[in-house]
Amino acid sequence: MILTVTLNTAVDLTYHVPTLRRHTTHRVTETQDRPGGKGVNVARVLARLGHPTTVTGFAGGPTGAWLREALSGEPHLKDALVPIGGTTRRTVAVVDAAGGDTTQFNEPGPTVTAAEWEALKKAYASLLPGAEAVALCGSLPPGVPVGAYAHLIREARSAGVPVLLDTSGEPLRRGIAARPDLVKPNAAELADLTGTRDPRHAARAARRRGARAVVASLGAEGLLAETPVGAWRAAPPGPVRGNPTGAGDSVVAGLLAGLAEGADWPDRLVRAAALSAATVHASAAGEYDEAAYRDLAARITATALPGAA
Ligand code: ATP
Ligand code: MG
Ligand code: MG
Repeated sequence: MILTVTLNTAVDLTYHVPTLRRHTTHRVTETQDRPGGKGVNVARVLARLGHPTTVTGFAGGPTGAWLREALSGEPHLKDALVPIGGTTRRTVAVVDAAGGDTTQFNEPGPTVTAAEWEALKKAYASLLPGAEAVALCGSLPPGVPVGAYAHLIREARSAGVPVLLDTSGEPLRRGIAARPDLVKPNAAELADLTGTRDPRHAARAARRRGARAVVASLGAEGLLAETPVGAWRAAPPGPVRGNPTGAGDSVVAGLLAGLAEGADWPDRLVRAAALSAATVHASAAGEYDEAAYRDLAARITATALPGAA
């Protein structure tokens, strides 16, 4: 199975409004509730692709119970979330039908106690031997040490399990120093990490800091990979209109699915680019459009970039 870790799980609420304005009462035309948090999104996409996937992280309170109940209906997905005394956060995305853009509100998440963090580390250590790969995704909730991902990366490495990190800021900086197999920053996260806006220079700088491979996601421009065996670009045929929320999580899912199936780098990148564009295309945030995925996967190619990795 593939293991995903979401320390800051969420229940994601999406409100659709005709036009978003300040100082105004809005009529909500459509509401969606989904299990959320980045690793949970990754796991749902992997499970829908047919990959046995296990979810760990924290869940608590009524929202935590709702999240677990919603996940229990997913075939191929196993719930190994660790219970906490606090209440799982909610996020609210307001989709403006007129402009097509989304305004996002994220609660910080419940404070995790030292004992709960210890329980998570124990659960993780017991899940690792059964995992073919592990993904560490999203922000850290209050109470979890900033070096948490670095610790989980070292554990995966000593268990011989390939580990992918998708986070930002200081947890990303510290995580990279623990030498993960792969990081998946977006353009802003990569620039913030390295201080350079040129994605290729930045990706190479991230490798020098300890990431074995870097797949940078560049929004509608697709993906850039810098790996020990070469560098590639994979881009969608054109920009897709839709909701980009969770597109990055689908990149992670595509890369892991390819890794688990023994695909080479160009093939992994094609899957990730197609799956993420198909996620933008899907009407519900974090879901992917199956027909669009198959069509895009047949049309996207990964182009090798010159220069030593
Ligand atoms: P997330 O909100 O899930 O964290 P992210 O900011 O990490 O997303 P992005 O770089 O915004 O990730 O998007 C991930 C990938 O999704 C892109 O690399 C690209 O392959 C695809 N993608 C995003 N937006 C578009 C678009 N408008 N058209 C086509 N593909 C897109
Ligand atoms: Mg983005
Ligand atoms: Mg992201």
